[in-house]
Amino acid sequence: MKILVANLGSTSFKYRLFDMTDERILARGGVERIGSAQSKCFVEVGGQREEWTLEAKDHAVAVRLCLTQLTDKKCLSSPKELAAIGFKAVHAKGLTGVHRVDKHVLTAMEAYNDILPAHNPPYVTAMRLLAKELPEIPLVAAFETGFHETIPPAQKHYAIPREWADSIGIKRWGFHGASHRFIAERATMLIGNPDAKIVSCHLGGSSSLCAIKAGKSQATSMGMTPQSGLPQNNRVGDFDPFALLELMRTTGKSLGELLDILANKSGLEGLSGKSNDLRDVEIAALAGDANSKLALDVYVASVRQYLGSYLLLLGGADAIVFTGGIGENSATMREAICQDLGWFGIHLDGDKNKSAKGETRIEAANSRVQLWIMPTNEELIVARQTAGAI
Ligand code: ADP
Repeated sequence: MKILVANLGSTSFKYRLFDMTDERILARGGVERIGSAQSKCFVEVGGQREEWTLEAKDHAVAVRLCLTQLTDKKCLSSPKELAAIGFKAVHAKGLTGVHRVDKHVLTAMEAYNDILPAHNPPYVTAMRLLAKELPEIPLVAAFETGFHETIPPAQKHYAIPREWADSIGIKRWGFHGASHRFIAERATMLIGNPDAKIVSCHLGGSSSLCAIKAGKSQATSMGMTPQSGLPQNNRVGDFDPFALLELMRTTGKSLGELLDILANKSGLEGLSGKSNDLRDVEIAALAGDANSKLALDVYVASVRQYLGSYLLLLGGADAIVFTGGIGENSATMREAICQDLGWFGIHLDGDKNKSAKGETRIEAANSRVQLWIMPTNEELIVARQTAGAI
């Protein structure tokens, strides 16, 4: 069975094609600048990359183009061989888990367009078009919230009037589900204990921590929306809603304008005033920029706050796993996060940490807790979920 896992932006479509008999990636590719006369296409098969430009007026044209390329490259015997397209969808009102995309799913996603402004609108628009223009291909949405269905009530509920959780769905849903699920499965297997206690630290453009026991999510740092939890590259993370009243009064900005700033001009970018990319913030901090140093300190403090609470929740951990662009690549952030945690049995090996590449362990010999760097594979999880759904 061949499954295409799609990553959609408002003007881009990127994919990985999986052969699910052995979960091999047969090809990756996509189209960028959809809607322009000069759309950029690329396809990579067996390490060979080809790029060219042409006009792809919308996402349906882009997908058809990619299917033709994949057939020309013999990755598919014909476009009909594709069993389904799977999407790493984020959140929909009243829905979680894995679903065939239909009117009900699209309406439920659309209902959250405004609270997930960066995620839902491009997905809903492209999925609607694909469902109409390519009705022969089943579309499957694997929601990020699905992995967190196992979170117990004490971690799931906000202290708000009880009925809001059930009637409106205001609770901690949690996100990065495909990534945390991959880490849960892989780390549990590598530790060799099905009941292993793991703290998964997905640190990237957006970041979240997840407490995992026996492969199941027990708590996670993002809540009702991915705007919450740790500070993100340009999003605020946890914030006191009553501060909004003071901000509205003193800045004269509307609620919508302030939410836009909290969602797009805050986080590392807002604090540092330099960049939303951790690499730039690290360079500026090293050069002595006080606001960049503060941004890094706030980020690390927030990761440690959740890490500490998850060590308490799980009663210690067998492993802490770092993944995502920052988790995999920033030795400085990993070192700052693991600083002075000897009391918890957590000792980082400085040299291993600095020279680490790919999936590897970085704890010192006397560390009771394993420390891992583990590249995540969200697409593989979505491919498995899609295959399961059809
Ligand atoms: P996304 O959450 O958008 O998928 P990624 O997981 O790719 O993003 O992470 C992007 C983040 O990773 C950026 O903030 C970037 O600065 C950071 N990053 C990538 N490479 C490095 C590196 N070598 N050192 C420090 N940070 C890095």
